[in-house]
Amino acid sequence: MIRIGVLALQGAFLEHQAILKHLGAETFQIRKPKDLERKIDGLVLPGGESTAICKLLIDLDMMNQIKSKIQDGLPVFGTCAGLIILAKRVKNKSVPGLETMDIECVRNAYGRQLGSFRATSQFEKFGKIPMVFIRAPYITWAGRGVEILAEVDGKIVAARQKNQLVTAFHPELTDNPTVHRYFLEKMVKK
Ligand code: GLN
Repeated sequence: MIRIGVLALQGAFLEHQAILKHLGAETFQIRKPKDLERKIDGLVLPGGESTAICKLLIDLDMMNQIKSKIQDGLPVFGTCAGLIILAKRVKNKSVPGLETMDIECVRNAYGRQLGSFRATSQFEKFGKIPMVFIRAPYITWAGRGVEILAEVDGKIVAARQKNQLVTAFHPELTDNPTVHRYFLEKMVKK
């Protein structure tokens, strides 16, 4: 059985666990350094508040451990705040993140009025899927080797670089499992 660790310091981690479980994976909450010693096949960084999550990762002394696992090839999927934490460059950021993925993003990119909205757009070649955005970032630059998987209104909202997958939206807050299935089948199982 595939074993996925879900970072559970803050934010929407339960929803990720539910959808992964529905797809047949086993999930574990990662809350402290010791949890990272368990064997996992993939890691999910949920949405929430990237500043709070990064502060906790630093205070709990987990930032470097997670970073080296990703650099060693552990498949990782970051949604919303998770995207911000993985991005090498972030506009409006106050706390350093993992910074492992060659993308630049803007936090709270849609401003206050458009803080939350829904859209439907193509995800890679898997058809149109519902996308829920909550005070979301979008990607303003993607380096070579970064594959663009989805765009909404000309803005990049999903991308992949080898073992790293990010979405600006929250697929775990819809009942459409396309993105999680992509993560499990194309990146974790290989
Ligand atoms: N605005 C949040 C941040 O900057 C992200 C929002 C989310 O994860 N839904 O971290």
